[in-house]
Amino acid sequence: MIKLTADDIFDGRRFLGPDRVVVLDEDGTVSAVVPYSWAGDDVQRVEGILCPGFVNTHCHLELSHMRGTIPEGTGLPRFLTTVMEQRQPSTLEILEQAMADAAAAMRQEGIVAVGDICNTTASIPLKINSSLYWHSFVECMGFTDASAPQRLEHALTVWAKFKGYQLPGSLVPHAPYSVSATLFRLIAGMENNTPLCIHNQETAAENELYLHKTGPFLDFYRHFNIAAEGFQPTGQSSLQSFLPYFSDAANLLLVHNTYTTATDIRFAESAAPQVHWCLCPNANLYIEGTLPDVPALLQSGASITLGTDSLASNHQLSIWAEVQTIRGRFPDIPLETMLQWATLNGATALGIDGTYGSLEKGKRPGLVQIVNNSATFFTI
Ligand SMILES: [Zn+2]
Repeated sequence: MIKLTADDIFDGRRFLGPDRVVVLDEDGTVSAVVPYSWAGDDVQRVEGILCPGFVNTHCHLELSHMRGTIPEGTGLPRFLTTVMEQRQPSTLEILEQAMADAAAAMRQEGIVAVGDICNTTASIPLKINSSLYWHSFVECMGFTDASAPQRLEHALTVWAKFKGYQLPGSLVPHAPYSVSATLFRLIAGMENNTPLCIHNQETAAENELYLHKTGPFLDFYRHFNIAAEGFQPTGQSSLQSFLPYFSDAANLLLVHNTYTTATDIRFAESAAPQVHWCLCPNANLYIEGTLPDVPALLQSGASITLGTDSLASNHQLSIWAEVQTIRGRFPDIPLETMLQWATLNGATALGIDGTYGSLEKGKRPGLVQIVNNSATFFTI
């Protein structure tokens, strides 16, 4: 048995105060959280806060070699253009080393589970041997309706490679501006495909496309010779246009939500009750220079999670750094609330709350020590 106490213990939902002891098996499985007076001998005192391991619900590990290659503040359409044109690594070794370094850094700062977007199979070798839990979101895109069956087929082929190594995964739509109506329907119709995620309202241009079929995405399609003639604007925001496809989805993760309004949030909470809202504030500042309406999400009682996005749009992959950014901009939000986003809510969104996210008997969530305003994985 390992017995730990700290200045404060966060259990996934709330702070328990200094008078508690976490009791763990040798392998890190939680046995109990008890009052100090019940714990007996050999209680080890830890400085700062002890907290369950962090869950990063949005990452693109396979873009790790692009750190620092894209200037900040370009806006999403130009950012995407650069990623698509420069994502090919000069050698496979460079990519593999960058992914290994990024995964090790995530582990070091307390991340134990990751929802990772995959366009290729490049991350499979790392994931097979990793101490982190990975859910691979194999992404599907295709804005031209006629190409939908082939695009789905391609993504299924990529996903099959992950399945071949028993790696957890699902097949997901990339974004409203890159998925046609037919492709949305095909993905929504797939069975045993959970959790789902989608990049949502990361730029104002996405709403403009759906409302009026104007704006920067038309230039983006022209640049890449993508036929947009078949796209019909809906006269509604992008979220209100695509969400009805997923009204039955268990666990749908909406990522970014930078231009999501209070009306969109109300719409989503009634149209798709299992929705989670993933915030990646440092990436939003990097690409668009703005942040989502976090107070509106909080007021609606929405389930919020945190993600880092990739090293193409962030200076580090650190959930604690994302917490710091939100704290700086919204100082009234209690740390307790944000730590639940970083732990239990993320685990629930990825469907792994049976093991991760909180200090409950039988779970093996990993531990983070937060001290002197930094977070590190706590090795028992
Ligand atoms: Zn992303």
